Amino acid sequence: MTTSDNANNISITIFTNTMPHNIDTICVQGGWQPKKGEPRQVPIYQSTTFKYETSEQMARLFDLEDSGYFYTRLQNPTNDAVAAKIAELEGGVGCVLTSSGQAASFFAILNICEAGDHVVSSSTIYGGTFNLFAITLRKMGIDCTFVGYDASDEEIAAAIRPETKCVFGETISNPGGRVFDIERFARVAHEHGLPLIVDNTFATPVNCRPFEWGADIVTHSTTKYMDGHASQVGGAVVDSGKFDWDAHADKFPGLTTPDESYHGLTYTKKFGPMAYTVKLTAQLMRDLGAIPSPMNCFLLNLGLETLHLRMARHCENAQRVAEWLEQNPNVAWVNYAGLPSDPDHALAQKYLPKGGCGVIAFGLKGTREDAIRFMDALNFISIVTHVADTRTCVLHPASHTHRQLSDAQLLEAGVRPDLIRLSVGIESCEDIIADLKQAMEHSK
Ligand code: PLP
Repeated sequence: MTTSDNANNISITIFTNTMPHNIDTICVQGGWQPKKGEPRQVPIYQSTTFKYETSEQMARLFDLEDSGYFYTRLQNPTNDAVAAKIAELEGGVGCVLTSSGQAASFFAILNICEAGDHVVSSSTIYGGTFNLFAITLRKMGIDCTFVGYDASDEEIAAAIRPETKCVFGETISNPGGRVFDIERFARVAHEHGLPLIVDNTFATPVNCRPFEWGADIVTHSTTKYMDGHASQVGGAVVDSGKFDWDAHADKFPGLTTPDESYHGLTYTKKFGPMAYTVKLTAQLMRDLGAIPSPMNCFLLNLGLETLHLRMARHCENAQRVAEWLEQNPNVAWVNYAGLPSDPDHALAQKYLPKGGCGVIAFGLKGTREDAIRFMDALNFISIVTHVADTRTCVLHPASHTHRQLSDAQLLEAGVRPDLIRLSVGIESCEDIIADLKQAMEHSK
């Protein structure tokens, strides 16, 4: 449930957890439980602003002395209801929705890093995030060292510098499908007084809850399975509320020392476990924007209502398709951690016992042109720059999403040049396999 936190004089979303804690029930009903006479469905507050009676009331809101909605860039009731659901799904204390997954990754880092700081990241991450870390953050003075997703404890520790502020990885990497050893990376990060940020887009909290394995912050591209219907672009930053910023106060002055732009307020002192979430809303959203529209949050919530059903079907179909591909003489290799032959199968059994996701990476025997011919010969499986919605789709990352990366960067990000990314939807599995089969026959 969302309420205003009057004690802290700011309208923030807090979770009273009157809901049963089963993840399936949270998907359907979390975040919005109407009272007598209120709408059954989350209302869309498609309004930039909110009315007050006196200028004094408005002034108190700007000083964070009173709680209440005043401008949608900072907070909106529709967005807050959906953020509350995602926080409940992940088991966090707070969540901020953003206008895209890219904005979520950027804000998650920028909330604790400034020029001169440094990030350690798994190299096996989404190409857009790789680019953000390797190029754009560096231009802003925030450096990044990439380590293998399977780096040893010593390799991770060796990459950490005095100015490092966090460690980052993806539960299941896009597009290679590698499984991140969350518990181990969290332990090494914590040994150095650092939070672990995990992008949980592909697994979703239905299949993995990174906070249970020691992660401190979780990010999402809600554009993917959470929405699941390819109808809105969005992101989320969720805070576990567990990282002790004050214990490492010198590393995180933005959270532990007075913020001059809020009359000298110190986030950790005033907001305790909500410090990271409140700072992200009150400071980054105030200054940089990137909020989703209430309409998009409403659409996202429709997707979330069936997330648990869809994830089960995506995984069931993908497992069958991966097994079929593995047996197929035209296929050179398959990456799907649900396959016993996959090098990450043991990690998948630990972190993803219910299944991973619907995304399979594979390579065909033959040339890059054969792969393109195969994709062009598909019927209802379409070529789109997207993954993780109900409809099965396919992409060649080296020619499409990752084309800005050099061959060396491609390999570093776990993307082989012949990699075909197949996002298995929730249609009939027989039909999906039949379309793959006919396309392989026609492209020979
Ligand atoms: N993180 C992952 C794992 C992704 O797959 C993507 C996009 O594909 C993003 C982040 C970026 O999300 P968005 O496209 O919503 O900005």
